[in-house]
Amino acid sequence: MQLTKRQEMILDIVKKEGPITGEQIAERLNLTRATLRPDMAILTMSGMLEARPRVGYFYSGKKPGRILAEKLHQITVGDVKSVPVAVSEQCTIYDAVVTMFIEDVGTLFVVREGGFLEGLLSRKDLLKITLGGQDIHKLPVGVVMTRMPNIIYTEPEESVWEAARKIITHEVDALPVVRVVHQADGTPELEVTGRLSKTNITRLFVELGEGDL
Ligand code: ADP
Repeated sequence: MQLTKRQEMILDIVKKEGPITGEQIAERLNLTRATLRPDMAILTMSGMLEARPRVGYFYSGKKPGRILAEKLHQITVGDVKSVPVAVSEQCTIYDAVVTMFIEDVGTLFVVREGGFLEGLLSRKDLLKITLGGQDIHKLPVGVVMTRMPNIIYTEPEESVWEAARKIITHEVDALPVVRVVHQADGTPELEVTGRLSKTNITRLFVELGEGDL
């Protein structure tokens, strides 16, 4: 975060003299409190300064990078996920391509009854099968999808930063958001409840840049 010269001066004053009131900061700078108000708002919203009623401002000691990192660790996958788009394993390659266009997504989840994850299809999985010259109206998606247990997933409570790191590490475009359900015999099953794509991360990035979050 780039601070203005005046904001740097305010930070310096608070570092040296805090806790200090807004009135006193204004006096040091020979400005009115009203003039300083937007700067004080930026410095407190960003977390660099903290304000306590009847005490005044004091320096939080947090660097801007640290503050952004803390924010990213607080935001969860559940806060930014989208709705999942799923097909069944018997769905044909042709219908999967059509679904991708209609739903405007790049990753389809393949689920069985109850919404449990069986596999996943990316754009390139579908393109690849068209190279083979097979009948895409007959071929089911099961022949080309990436299958469980090889699917990288996330959960609503996971931090969006952890999930983004999985996307980068595993070089994929999207992760299914799941709830892990244990069957009667103890085997874990993944119930698909959402979708986290690079678009969700990019949207969050833009919103963070606008300073609204
Ligand atoms: P694209 O193929 O359009 O570049 P991806 O990079 O997401 O999209 O997919 C690359 C490969 O990784 C595909 O074979 C796909 O099935 C697989 N894949 C995509 N997402 C995941 C995931 N979350 N877990 C495991 N494999 C995945």
